[in-house]
Amino acid sequence: MNAAYDVAIVGSGFSGSLLATILAERGRRVALIDRQRHPRFAVGESSTPLADAILRHLGEQYGRPDWVNLSAYGSWKDTMPTVSCGLKRGFAYYRHHRRQPYWDSHDHDSSLLVSASRSDQAGDTHWYRPDVDHYFHQQAIKAGVADLTGWQLSGLDTASPYRIGLHHVQHHHQQSITADWLIDASGPAAAVARLLGRRPIGQPIRTRTSSTWMHVKGLPGWSDWLCRHDIGCDDDPFDADAAAVHHVLDQGWIWCLRFDNGITSVGWTSPTQTLCGTLESTIDDYPSLRQLFSGAIPCTDIYQAEQFQRRFDPILGPRCLMTPTAAFTLDPLHSTGIAVGLVGVARLADLMLNHGDENSALDQYRKLIQTEFLWLDEFVGTAYSVMPDFSRFSAACQWFMLAAIACEEQIQRSGFDCRRCLYNADNTAMRDVMRGGNRDLRGPRMTAEVTKSLRKSAMPFNTAGLFNPDVANRFAYTATKS
Ligand SMILES: Cc1cc2nc3c(=O)[nH]c(=O)nc-3n(C[C@H](O)[C@H](O)[C@H](O)COP(=O)(O)OP(=O)(O)OC[C@H]3O[C@@H](n4cnc5c(N)ncnc54)[C@H](O)[C@@H]3O)c2cc1C
Repeated sequence: MNAAYDVAIVGSGFSGSLLATILAERGRRVALIDRQRHPRFAVGESSTPLADAILRHLGEQYGRPDWVNLSAYGSWKDTMPTVSCGLKRGFAYYRHHRRQPYWDSHDHDSSLLVSASRSDQAGDTHWYRPDVDHYFHQQAIKAGVADLTGWQLSGLDTASPYRIGLHHVQHHHQQSITADWLIDASGPAAAVARLLGRRPIGQPIRTRTSSTWMHVKGLPGWSDWLCRHDIGCDDDPFDADAAAVHHVLDQGWIWCLRFDNGITSVGWTSPTQTLCGTLESTIDDYPSLRQLFSGAIPCTDIYQAEQFQRRFDPILGPRCLMTPTAAFTLDPLHSTGIAVGLVGVARLADLMLNHGDENSALDQYRKLIQTEFLWLDEFVGTAYSVMPDFSRFSAACQWFMLAAIACEEQIQRSGFDCRRCLYNADNTAMRDVMRGGNRDLRGPRMTAEVTKSLRKSAMPFNTAGLFNPDVANRFAYTATKS
């Protein structure tokens, strides 16, 4: 076989599959290549109001009501109950101390809950990626995309058009295809960049972490555990398990994301270059988590990535581009990856359908995603550097949420514009205030003093009442999603 395509996309995760669908429905001949076949495991499951706003926009702009339905928990469950997800009403953080049972005061000195939606119906979701990515891939095939899953990249001739060598993972057949455009949507594998011999950009960044993760079955509810141990949840704005749950440890944090199918995504991220211990041995060090996890049964392999932060120049050559999630890997903290992936789909679709290979459009693409990456690194790196002091960490999380909420509100006011940076990274006034706050958080001043000055500096942007000392770390009113 020696088929010719307009576009070849390497990687059939949600980024590659959504982009392929948009292009095919607009008449492009698209091949979607992946070494794995669906359904397959993938990490990166916790969506946010921002991610949902972009998915909704993509659905409206490109005439895909199913994508609009997948942008909120209620419409997802009503219209696509066979595609598994979990309810996410917000972010929940609990500070544990090694060898001590979890405890919290009436003022919630050891926990923080921040709402992201006003009701379950409007809630965000945890994407059960084996189902979600499979669904998006099936839709791409229905739209006329050529299914080249099960095929791995084996060679690349960069003469125009690109000649792409493929090797069948199971049957060891070879084939080659040609394409005018080549998109690297292969996530952290950065398969095309590596085949072209590109190296990550060496410039240092703040965030340096390692992670290990898996799925488990039979994990009891954390909110039940809290109730059974008389740790009050009466003032919680949502059930703690309907959230991205962060168990903050002496060294790093453990996430728990529940899906409605009885499976929970669990992972540990440590601010170290290598992981000292396993997820199991880490849980064992914290008595309340040990008790919680005692009945949980792993149902996938255990995955691990050490010091996985890296970035490539997303422009690999003429008509050869990387998605932001292939060009950059940062960290799971603050759940930014789905939004970053989706805005990449919006930008690449706009670029390829409306601008071709105009240099100004390519420069803008590079600049937008590099600016966002460095901006997110500033918040995530700061949060890790203050994590051991829970009240400082809680201030760092709220500081980031200000930027996220400001961006959501801007989209609500003026609509989504893929030429604007996510998280208001291109809003000069806000950027200077935010940078100053992050510097203060990392600096030597006492936490109470820093929090007070953050509250003051946040006033022009703080529509959501964050940093309010009267609500005891329970923020019910931040939701921009109605
Ligand atoms: C530990 C961890 C936790 C995370 N948690 C969150 C979170 O809670 N929320 C959030 O928003 N984001 C999170 N992220 C980020 C999120 O995982 C990514 O943004 C998201 O998975 C990107 O999806 P994608 O479709 O772009 O790529 P992927 O889902 O990575 O898909 C890439 C595809 O390319 C294929 N591929 C790779 N190499 C080749 C090759 N050589 N040939 C052919 N095919 C190839 C793979 O098989 C895969 O199917 C997390 C990331 C990590 C590392």
